[in-house]
Amino acid sequence: MEYDRKYTVRQNLAYCVRATRQGCPKLLAFCLLVILANCLIPMITAWLPKTVIEEITEGSPLRRLLTVTAAMTLALAVLSGLQKYLDRLIYWNKFKMNAFFLRKITRKGLTTDYRNQENEHFRALQNESFASCNGNFSHYARIYDAIVLFFSNLLGFLAFTGILLTLNPLLILFLCLTTLVSFFLNRRISKWIEGSNDEKAGYEQRMQYVIRAADDTRAAKDIRLYRMAAWLDGIYEKNLSGLLGWYRRYTAKLFRVSAADSALVLVREGATYAYLLYLAVKGRISVAEFVLYFSVVAGFSAWLGSLLGQITELGRLNHAMNRFRSYLEYPETYLREGGKPTGDRSAPKKMELRHVSFRYGGDGEDVIRDLNLTLEPGEHLAVVGLNGAGKTTLVKLLCGLTEPTEGTVLYGGTDIREFNRDEYYGLFGAVFQDYSILPVTIGEIVAEDEEGNIDHALAETCLKQAGLWKKITSLPEGVKSKYDKTFWDDGVNLSGGETQKLLLARALYRQAPVIVLDEPTAALDPVSENRLYETYDEVMRGKTTVFISHRLASTRFCRRIVLIEHGRITEEGTHEELLAKKGRYHELFETQAKYYRENPEGEVDSDEA
Ligand code: ADP
Repeated sequence: MEYDRKYTVRQNLAYCVRATRQGCPKLLAFCLLVILANCLIPMITAWLPKTVIEEITEGSPLRRLLTVTAAMTLALAVLSGLQKYLDRLIYWNKFKMNAFFLRKITRKGLTTDYRNQENEHFRALQNESFASCNGNFSHYARIYDAIVLFFSNLLGFLAFTGILLTLNPLLILFLCLTTLVSFFLNRRISKWIEGSNDEKAGYEQRMQYVIRAADDTRAAKDIRLYRMAAWLDGIYEKNLSGLLGWYRRYTAKLFRVSAADSALVLVREGATYAYLLYLAVKGRISVAEFVLYFSVVAGFSAWLGSLLGQITELGRLNHAMNRFRSYLEYPETYLREGGKPTGDRSAPKKMELRHVSFRYGGDGEDVIRDLNLTLEPGEHLAVVGLNGAGKTTLVKLLCGLTEPTEGTVLYGGTDIREFNRDEYYGLFGAVFQDYSILPVTIGEIVAEDEEGNIDHALAETCLKQAGLWKKITSLPEGVKSKYDKTFWDDGVNLSGGETQKLLLARALYRQAPVIVLDEPTAALDPVSENRLYETYDEVMRGKTTVFISHRLASTRFCRRIVLIEHGRITEEGTHEELLAKKGRYHELFETQAKYYRENPEGEVDSDEA
């Protein structure tokens, strides 16, 4: 589902003002003040020489002359100081707004419906939104500069137009025309940059990839063993020369436009000053007026040029803001507070998938096809199938992470779409293949809570059940050991198998009525694997469990096994029943068994079976 908000610049500016009032109201006041300072400084600068000359030519007393000059100079000094001070204040407060917007998008990312996270369009919006408020030169920081400059330029432009109107409206027309030509010349460069940005970004991205690879400890082994250094270096060199070529073309264009621009400035300023001189010589304007118009003419073109530039900039930022708001306002369809409570979670209820089909993206193929499956309370089910058969997808549907394209998932007879989804998630203790572990203490990981709230006795039981207790007690700080050496100097790293056990302990600690284990033995050594099978019934007593594996031998301890192929249940029964059927399960089992007999350490992939 594509979702793109299209707000106008005015609507987005209003949104930005509302957000700033919420996040950092002072910033609005600073922006208003700096706009005033930005306008007043050039106005006073233009009026100062005129006033002084007038005072002199009118023969005003020295005292008055000095007072007027001092007052205007003082005003200029104060305003310039204020302008610089406000610029600094705005700079720092933009950080606050960045953090404000960043928090909004982080929250959205953390809480959005899981299926949004699997949606490519949503993910693109998410990436752009994070980039939009990352740093003080990001889109969201630039919007404040653009607003300040736009209004400063607008006010300045109107004021100078007013002054020039007293001289000759045709002069305004002439200045506008020449400024516009200059503006469009410069815009051609911006357009060229926009048009060739993908090319430049491509070079930079590939160079960045190589830079990151040099710094990546995970890639370090492969890079050495597969002698990838020279290859990566070659990629860097090729892209660097592409990037330099881009900059050469850019500089050549910039030079041509700058030359044309300078010629235009010469014509514009030359013609206007000649005209002003003519008026002065003819006595139509006084010397004081000549001086005033002289600086107003220069200022007028600058205001107008910058105003046009800011309009373009606002248009550009508007696009980024629309992407940002599309992300923040991306529809959430799962029920949360408004949903039904799931009720008692001490005992599992019957679960059912009724005619469930599912496909990723709108036009993809069905990954789950018209699947029916019932899980009685407390039943231990094994789901087997080769890689890509749809096992993980099935689990995501059961847990309510994704929703069926067709059909229904029921828990205790209720369509799970009606439940408060957050409560529904609470019914599951799950171990997924792609997991997330925070760099906190082992105890906190198991309890998914802070130290003060941990039930240590329960954590110990779960770690024992998962077969990790011995390892944890061997660590100097036991359950208080910090996980992740890359984060903590005195942290611990766990092997793949130990991490899997830690995840199992975490799933058990939840004391959830349903446990889902997606390939929980993939990284376990045979001893640990065997121990898990032996204790499984005991540890999981009273819970509904779904044990997923692509290795058929590993699920024989479950009383009911379903074989999934191409999103359908093709066979089901106990291990013995399935073998006796001499069907697909038997065939796959034999192939894998033969393989394991020949390669006791081997893994089976769909290509091999
Ligand atoms: P299994 O767990 O049995 O290996 P999965 O449920 O992970 O299989 O995947 C089933 C099919 O769905 C595969 O063809 C896989 O490529 C596809 N698939 C899985 N996740 C996604 C996703 N996020 N987007 C698109 N396709 C996906």
